[in-house]
Parts: sequence; C-alpha cells; structure tokens
Amino acid sequence: MQTRIKTRAEVTAMRESGRLLATVLATLKEALEPGMTTKDLAEIAKRELRGTGGVPTFLGQYGFPDVICISLNDEIVHGIPSPKRKIKAGDIVSMDFGVTYDGMITDSATSVVAGGVSNEKKDKLLRDTEASLFAGVAVLKDGVRVGDIANAVQQVLEKGGYGIVRDMVGHGVGHELHEDPNIPNYGKKGTGPKLSAGMTIAIEPMATLGDFRVFIDIDGWTVRSNDRSLAAHFEHTVLITETGSEILTQL
Ligand code: MG
Ligand code: MG
Repeated sequence: MQTRIKTRAEVTAMRESGRLLATVLATLKEALEPGMTTKDLAEIAKRELRGTGGVPTFLGQYGFPDVICISLNDEIVHGIPSPKRKIKAGDIVSMDFGVTYDGMITDSATSVVAGGVSNEKKDKLLRDTEASLFAGVAVLKDGVRVGDIANAVQQVLEKGGYGIVRDMVGHGVGHELHEDPNIPNYGKKGTGPKLSAGMTIAIEPMATLGDFRVFIDIDGWTVRSNDRSLAAHFEHTVLITETGSEILTQL
C-alpha cells in the first residue's frame, strides 16, 4: 500500500511507538557485551517491551521467527537471533527493531562495535553510514522527491568509497511495516515520487567496506555481503513536515 498522510492521532501513536523502540535499542546498546549470544539480545528486547503497550512488529512478519534482527559483521540485515551465535569483542552488531503501538508501526536500526574493541576502519564505516542517514533526513520537507533523499545518502557513502547496498531499500511505514514508495540509497536528484508533509518513511542506508552485492544465506533470511566484507546499517522512521522533518525513533 501507498504510505498515507497520517492523522494527528496516528502521528501521536507513532511518536510513542518510536519512543519505545528507541528506548529498547538504547538498552540493548548498553547491555551488549562480548560473550552474549544474539538470542540474549532478542530476549532483552522482548522483556523491555513487555508491559509498555508496544508489540514487536517483526515477530511473524513475512514469517520472521523472532522479535528483532541481529546481524554480525558481513551480515547486513535480517539476521535471526540464535543461542548458538556468540558475540565476540570487535564484532559489528547491527540491531534492527520494529514496534507497533496503537496500530501504528515504527522501524529503526543501529550498528555498534562490541566490547569497545574497534579500529579506525570500522569506526569510520559506522560513522559515515549514520552520517548518510542524517544526510537523507536533512533534505526532507513537503514535496521532496525520493531521488533527492536517495542522492543525499549516496553522496556521503560514495565519498567514503563504500559498497552501497542496492537490493534492500528504505520505505514508507506506519500502518504497515513496508509501505510504498521504496526509498533507495542510490539515485538522482529531482526524480521519483513526490512525498508530502504528514507522510512517514524509514530511511535505512546499508554500506559495506567492499562490494555492494549481497546474497541470502541458507537460513533463507540473513543477507550478507557477497565478498564477506564488513557492513553497517542505520535506520530511522521520520515524519515529513511542511518545512523539514521529525525523527520519531530518536530519544
Ligand atoms: Mg528496520
Ligand atoms: Mg525498514
């Protein structure tokens, strides 16, 4: 379905959804330690959301078997939490979460390096991928075109020489997790559908230290870089306003 201009009540619900989501992601970042499994993170996410009125959107979405996607290193998105998957110091941990509150959905992701054992390459990959997300957010306003957002993201990532993942894209969000239009991380200014104030979209750059090409692992879910290069993923759900935007998944 095409993303709609949300009513005041729907925006209010999405603000609360986004606040809950951001709180859970902040808690996970805080809790993350080498030696934990990716399933441990999922259990914390589930526990943190309990009793808040928020529901984990991803569970059962297209058949996904858990509440959160946890992707490590060369895994870009859609990693399934597993009690067998131990997180090591220096691993890039990408956490992608969705919350439904009062029928309205927000979607957000962040990437961190576990155990504070990083290096300049990883730090820069994470920093630049997040910066490309904010570059996309910065061009939002009533009448913005999808290509304007895509191009803003692309500029930042290209300058860093990263592989810009093309097979997965941002999207409209709100009543459903994935609404039209798609918001690619690669495109031409002034092209594509026009977006209006009151619409809510998820911008989500995915970048690698190598090739942009990806494949789906044998579990049928995990998306990995073809050349096994390290990857990062950042995402916010954002409300477009007359003159700019409001990030809904930020505390
Ligand atoms: Mg997401
Ligand atoms: Mg998304």
